[in-house]
Amino acid sequence: RRLKRIARISDSYQFELQDIKTRFEQASRSDYLTGLSNRLDMYKRLEAERSRTARHGKPFAVIMADIDRFKEINDTFGHDLGDQVLVTIARAFAGCLRGEDSCARWGGEEFLILLPETCGDDALAVAERLRGLAENLALESGTSRIRVTISLGVAVYAAGENIDSCIKRADDALYRAKNAGRNRSVLHV
Ligand code: GH3
Ligand code: MG
Ligand code: MG
Repeated sequence: RRLKRIARISDSYQFELQDIKTRFEQASRSDYLTGLSNRLDMYKRLEAERSRTARHGKPFAVIMADIDRFKEINDTFGHDLGDQVLVTIARAFAGCLRGEDSCARWGGEEFLILLPETCGDDALAVAERLRGLAENLALESGTSRIRVTISLGVAVYAAGENIDSCIKRADDALYRAKNAGRNRSVLHV
């Protein structure tokens, strides 16, 4: 009887440990504030997509999105409201992408979107849709309406290049979108 009891306790510890392990794994993949994938998880997804592409030859695209003048939003309305903006944008993005797409919080106010099997023109159309979403968010602080715009850089993975180089090209396109006046999408060609 004692042995049975020990076995039962051991089983329940096993379950608990498994549960803790699952929760740790989940937490290590996601961004605490928005619940989106974090940078590490997105990097793994990008590498997986890269090897898939090497086999099938189908292109994939990445979008780097960055909130415009986010520092001003924080300075004007406070950091908590800034956090709320990040969460709202994350939800809006996640809600408008296909099931096979992924969206991550790449940095402070930067999001990286992976679009499998997507060409440049289609990715640019997605970027424009995300831009429109941000622009039309109903965000308020007291009686003021908070206007949020984002700039986006789009790049299509080129056969043989590494992930960092592809992200760098999306970043370069984003930089051009910012320089051209913000609230726009630019495709790296
Ligand atoms: P730009 O249009 O050139 O992108 O201007 P910007 O103000 O958005 O860019 P900048 O890089 O100067 O500022 C980014 C700001 O984002 C500064 C930082 O305090 C804020 N930020 C980063 N992470 C968080 C966060 O988790 N919560 C809040 N509320 N703010 C954050
Ligand atoms: Mg930024
Ligand atoms: Mg910014």
